[in-house]
Amino acid sequence: MAKTVTWAGGRVLPALGLGTWKMGEDPRRRQEELAALRAGLDAGLTLIDTAEMYGDGAAETLIAEAIAGRPREELFVVSKVYPHNAGATRLPQALARSLKRLKTDVLDCYLLHWRGGVPLEETAETMERMREAGHIRSWGVSNLDLDDMQELDDPRCATNQVLLHPGERGVEFDLLPWMQQRNMPLMAYSPLGQGPILRNPALGAIAARHKATSAQVALAWSIRHPGVIAIPKSGKPERARENAAALALELTDQDLAAIDAAFPPPKRKRPLAML
Ligand code: NDP
Repeated sequence: MAKTVTWAGGRVLPALGLGTWKMGEDPRRRQEELAALRAGLDAGLTLIDTAEMYGDGAAETLIAEAIAGRPREELFVVSKVYPHNAGATRLPQALARSLKRLKTDVLDCYLLHWRGGVPLEETAETMERMREAGHIRSWGVSNLDLDDMQELDDPRCATNQVLLHPGERGVEFDLLPWMQQRNMPLMAYSPLGQGPILRNPALGAIAARHKATSAQVALAWSIRHPGVIAIPKSGKPERARENAAALALELTDQDLAAIDAAFPPPKRKRPLAML
């Protein structure tokens, strides 16, 4: 059965979405990237993750073109604000620019991209103001370690988007359990490890047992955790479809043990890894 994650407010989302970092930057790849996003949406991946940083807005502009004509309520659009834009004055302006590029009047979730100099409380209160004004439906953070989350300590924070793939498992030790206790979905970024981990023979062997691919195994591995939604990026339609099919891949205990042997789980606290 395809896995899902329940967002604050009760919206149920497929546990895989679409990443867009490095998309929209090269005009020669544009048509294929548009086709990839549309293939992912057609395959049922309703969440699209982007940021004002990606291509200096070019990824948001690409998304606007990819989603044109689709019912807005079927999509779940996530964007992120630069830390230097996360204060009371600049956040509303950055949000307005993102909405304009995305050609939409509301974001389903708006994230602080990483922690910077603006106090977390100021960002949280400004996000709330944007939510009350109807410009965003929820807000969250990204790249915050457990101590930052405990400092923020805000039940209105809908998610924390962090690095998680078989080769980067640090959050499984403390951050993920803490979020699970609070029913706060964790968004796993770079869930394919940006590519190189897919050559690992352990993933290849598991893939062969399931007539699947290493990418599908890596994705099924990250979303086996309740409350985790992974956001692989592909600029190729056939890979977007391949990735979406991982929603239905069930790994066995034997598979998980083989992944643990190849990529040992954390035994102690590690500082949050980030890209
Ligand atoms: P991913 O782990 O998603 O890997 C992307 C790479 O894998 C690309 O080179 C892609 O190439 C390739 N790929 C995709 N699908 C397959 C497949 N089925 N088989 C083989 N190769 C494949 O890396 P990202 O860093 O892009 O992470 C995903 C998303 O997470 C980002 O796009 C972004 O939205 C978000 N992110 C957020 C961060 C944050 O700080 N909050 C940091 C990093 C990422 P190709 O496109 O050619 O298919």
